[in-house]
Amino acid sequence: MPFPCLTCRLLADSLQLYEESLANNTQYSEPRDFFLGSPANIQSRSTATGCTSCQSILLSTDHSPSSILTAHLSAEQPRVSIVAGELDGREIPAALASQRKCLDTGGDDEELTVNYFLTTRAVTPQEQCARIVSRSHVDMKVIESWIAHCDVYHKHICHRPYDTYLLPKAPLSFIDVYNLCIVSHPPVDKDDPPPRYIALSYVWGNAQVQLALKENIEELRRPGAFGEGGAFILPRTVRDAIELTAELGVPYLWVDSVCIVQDDADSQKEQLQGMGAVYANAYLTIVASSSEDANAGIPRVGSSPVSDTKKEPVQRVITIPENPLIRTQGRESLDQETLDSSSLKWNTRGWTLQEKVFSRRLLGLGHKATWTCFGGEWTEDVSLPSERFQAQPITSRNDKKKMGIVTWPSIGEYSTLAAEYARRDLTWSTDAINAFLGVMTPMAAWFPGGLLHGIAEYTFDIGMLWDVGPAGMHLRRGPGTVQPLHATNFKHPSWSWVSWQGDLRFDMWKAAEDYSFPRGPVILHPLATWHKQLLTGEWVNIDNTYHVVRKHFQREGVSIPEDWTQHTDGQGKVCYQSKRHDHIIPHPAFTYPIPPLVRYRDIDQRPFHPHIRFQGKLTHVLIHITEEDQEFLRGKLFESDAALETDLMSPDGFWCGRITLHFEKGENVPSTHEVEVIAMSAGVLYLKAPSRIPHMFQKVRERPGFEDADVYEVVNVLCIGRCVNGMVYRRALGGIWKQAWEDLVSEDVELLLT
Ligand SMILES: [Zn+2]
Ligand SMILES: [Zn+2]
Repeated sequence: MPFPCLTCRLLADSLQLYEESLANNTQYSEPRDFFLGSPANIQSRSTATGCTSCQSILLSTDHSPSSILTAHLSAEQPRVSIVAGELDGREIPAALASQRKCLDTGGDDEELTVNYFLTTRAVTPQEQCARIVSRSHVDMKVIESWIAHCDVYHKHICHRPYDTYLLPKAPLSFIDVYNLCIVSHPPVDKDDPPPRYIALSYVWGNAQVQLALKENIEELRRPGAFGEGGAFILPRTVRDAIELTAELGVPYLWVDSVCIVQDDADSQKEQLQGMGAVYANAYLTIVASSSEDANAGIPRVGSSPVSDTKKEPVQRVITIPENPLIRTQGRESLDQETLDSSSLKWNTRGWTLQEKVFSRRLLGLGHKATWTCFGGEWTEDVSLPSERFQAQPITSRNDKKKMGIVTWPSIGEYSTLAAEYARRDLTWSTDAINAFLGVMTPMAAWFPGGLLHGIAEYTFDIGMLWDVGPAGMHLRRGPGTVQPLHATNFKHPSWSWVSWQGDLRFDMWKAAEDYSFPRGPVILHPLATWHKQLLTGEWVNIDNTYHVVRKHFQREGVSIPEDWTQHTDGQGKVCYQSKRHDHIIPHPAFTYPIPPLVRYRDIDQRPFHPHIRFQGKLTHVLIHITEEDQEFLRGKLFESDAALETDLMSPDGFWCGRITLHFEKGENVPSTHEVEVIAMSAGVLYLKAPSRIPHMFQKVRERPGFEDADVYEVVNVLCIGRCVNGMVYRRALGGIWKQAWEDLVSEDVELLLT
């Protein structure tokens, strides 16, 4: 190792002394600010002395050739910052150079670029520190420490036994990673858990993948079937996963392409339905997060790893020999590229959502390794204090690091999954939509009536209040089919969010879920009746009975149902809890008890048409789009979908409410026009809780006359369009001020909404 130059030596020695004083809580009187000079100064110093640290400073900081650079130590993390500031052609003042004084980092008039660096040592156990990431091999010691930490410290959250509905019902097949062949295990029950196996989650992409078929499955059961020279060639990603599984000491790996016999319709159907169980019961799930297809392999894994193909360096490092400094994105962000990153192809697919949600522990492998379980979210490049200490008890739903399946009747948690699903790209695939609805099965069982096309029947009025954000949305259509909506034959209904892709909003769901504790600011009452139709033609009531139960428990002296207990929170408010939710962490509280669990097999699972029957009021209103908004939309629709929140006016020109319109890319921008709306529910919004006011109503207070209002009463309406087949489809969700609604002329109608 070449000797650092004097400047770098001083920086390194001072850093060490400073860290020692911080660790021992003693006084530090050495320099904290260092003058490095211009890039040209640093370059010539490096050339003269052979200092590699100087070189690495130039490579790992953002600066311009005309800037001067200074380094600073801080007691907080990140510990080192290197600041680049413009000299604007001025000479470096001699005093500054000789006394190593620094740029005034507090000045506003100077253009400064700050580069933050984290040290690879932690001064105290509570600090994070950077880890060097190798481009050729993943750090197995780090992975093993994550697994061990979760095994020991997350017993209460990551290792609780699942309910029986999450145990695989059909026999499972695995790859035996030592004998390189397929083995099968009989169905399991609660007392006899499945063997320890790892599941693989990856994107097939366009790779040609050899599959397990009826004609070759016996062959694949012979030891060595997947070995070298065998007739069956596994894709590179699967081969790498086998090596990693063996290295972790786990005997079995589950991979869809060979563990489900792909041309055996019966077993395939069973296994697809049981996919959630496969991931839920895995020891952990390996996610090939950066691999674009099945042949890409898992970077940095196995005996002859595919190397990391990323062009830019994984890390930018200042090579101080004893304590390398790793560049971080900013003061807050430590560049933790987790599995939630939307730049990962893996994260844009429909199928992988199911795998992500059901798995308890996800080991992401790409340019960096990442770990996600309910108790921790870690990456290979940063050692966080949470990797060293026991996880704090989970007291709020936000404490959970990983999204999991919803196993209690929570519309709010459901909405998080729904929004995640809505942004994903599913090619027009009924299978993928069904796979997502499978994620909902455990929750659906809590609602009388279950889910109808992704909306809980019990609270159907709430379910119809989904909305669209500024980036807009479009209908999930088959490739090449771009009929206008009125001519579309809806395979999945326009009134349900499951049929749309894009920026969907569900904040009204949380706001109106009035049985949750503390309750949301919106209380709903139905204004319409809804029916669904069996494929045989018979009409069936849609449940929508939440308001009956709420009314029941509002009466004085109503007895508490069996299995429920009454509690008082810190502010003296009464809430209820159910013994049936004991397995949920944290234990949920309710404003009033809700109906008991319905056994899944009792839920009406007969097939229904995508259309439903609406019986209620219809009226005409004007959608008022200003010229300014038209201009804005035209600009956006060149590039993308778009949405616009705008005013509703009565036919005689009075303001009556708000609506969120959405347009698909390239669509024409309308001016003010008349539309039909149907009344779905009445809502009372309590304006006293401003932070929880849903987006739809945030502008209410700005209207003259509403500045000091306590409540805002609204009629939730659906703007509809007429289909060529005589049915109607959903165009937009709006809210009409109740007082204005009463002045509008409405008629009773019966419509088929598709
Ligand atoms: Zn140097
Ligand atoms: Zn864990």
